[in-house]
Amino acid sequence: MIEELKLQIDGHRKAMQPLEPDADTRAALGRQALDHALAYLDALPDAPSNGPWADVFSRHLEPEFPEEGHDFAPVLDYLATCVEGPGFTTASPRFMAYIPGGGLFHSALGDLLAAASNKFAGFASAAPGAVRLENATIEWLAKAIGYPESTLGILTSGGSIANLTAVVAARDARDDAGGGAVYTTRFAHHCVDKALHVAGRGKAPRRLIATDESFRMSIASLEEALAQDREAGIRPWLVVASAGTVDTGSVDPLFEIAQICRRYGAWFHIDGAYGGLFALCEDGRQVLRGIELSDSVALDPHKTLFLPYGTGAVLVREGRHLVDTFGASPNYMQPLGESEVGPSPSDLSPELTRHFRALRLWLPLQLAGASAFRAAQAEKLALARYFHARLTQIPDFDPGPPPDLSVITFRYQPRGGDTDAFNERLLRRTQEEGRVMLSGTRIDGRFMIRCAILNFRTHIEHVDEAIDVLGRGIAELEGPAGS
Ligand SMILES: *Cc1c(COP(=O)(O)O)cnc(C)c1O
Repeated sequence: MIEELKLQIDGHRKAMQPLEPDADTRAALGRQALDHALAYLDALPDAPSNGPWADVFSRHLEPEFPEEGHDFAPVLDYLATCVEGPGFTTASPRFMAYIPGGGLFHSALGDLLAAASNKFAGFASAAPGAVRLENATIEWLAKAIGYPESTLGILTSGGSIANLTAVVAARDARDDAGGGAVYTTRFAHHCVDKALHVAGRGKAPRRLIATDESFRMSIASLEEALAQDREAGIRPWLVVASAGTVDTGSVDPLFEIAQICRRYGAWFHIDGAYGGLFALCEDGRQVLRGIELSDSVALDPHKTLFLPYGTGAVLVREGRHLVDTFGASPNYMQPLGESEVGPSPSDLSPELTRHFRALRLWLPLQLAGASAFRAAQAEKLALARYFHARLTQIPDFDPGPPPDLSVITFRYQPRGGDTDAFNERLLRRTQEEGRVMLSGTRIDGRFMIRCAILNFRTHIEHVDEAIDVLGRGIAELEGPAGS
């Protein structure tokens, strides 16, 4: 019996060997992967910013799920042609659509290191050093936005989950029995609706607060809504302000909103997924004045700190609210700070086992230094003002309001015909050309083109090229003068 089992076990062991390549094979595979990534980055400056979909099916791995593994080379070939080429080239310096992402090389190395050691970053007792990095990184983020020492937070997969985490903490802290009202503008990101829904507050009384000419929340309208509700016996529960809306990059008057929330006892949450981390640089900090007075904030290091996708962050000013909601360790009632490395991430979010996310933020901070991040952010803010100023000089452009941060929302006034349709055609032509990637939005029914400058690789020559591309498109669509 035992001998027979030993034989079986030995057979399985031989067959599973491909899962544990030997040292030489590991080195060879690692070099192939690194060479592949380097070649991608080398080609990036001139690669299209939007690749053709048809390439997805231009090649196949036969079979796609083999019983015996393929060589690495054809697999990398497949990835290059069918995966890395088609669709948005978000790593491109000319990608200025939606909210651009980053993809710092240092972070890719951090991911490799995190995955190789596979430390369990959910529990302090399992990986004290990793958990210390998670908490130290959160503390660094909290300092960047000016939150106090009472702050706790967690790196999430993105801004949506960060907003959800904050809404659930706000619910438990201030709307336990339900019935409290929620205040947003029409520019709130749809993930706020999803968060309320998941938190069981999808049917909470909702007030859409009016905005000013720069699409920022109107203080007077907010105060009026809160006063009306209080008078009617409806408890103001949650005000969600934007530190950078997706549509226009507008920053709500955070300082004033904080004062009003305090007066009415409402939880003040800021969706800063796009813009909140601009607080790291001096120019951004001024625009974001008052962000430090909120109760919670959602951030997206995979946008404003240029990390690869999969890194959001939520910070709660009175961190105990996060622990009240998500604490699961039997000893979570221990006073905070009891553990030398800080709380376990699993006591701060719904996740237990998780990616060791901190390393992809911590490592670039070690290797590049914080001042490089500050400079990159300041450059993006200045480039946005530059783009807006250049549009202002070109006849027949409606350049939109001056940017609060790094999104410019504008449109062209054609000589004749439908303005919306013209701008939609102009945008489509730009996207199909695939040099500079822009996107569009509708604001109060009017179609607008958006330029969002947030890729760390985007510099002045790329912004100039965006202007050139628009100029060429307009000339082509309008035809010879007078026709
Ligand atoms: C991107 C964004 C979100 C959603 O964040 P994800 O990281 O995509 O989940 C929410 N709010 C704003 C303002 C955003 O820009």
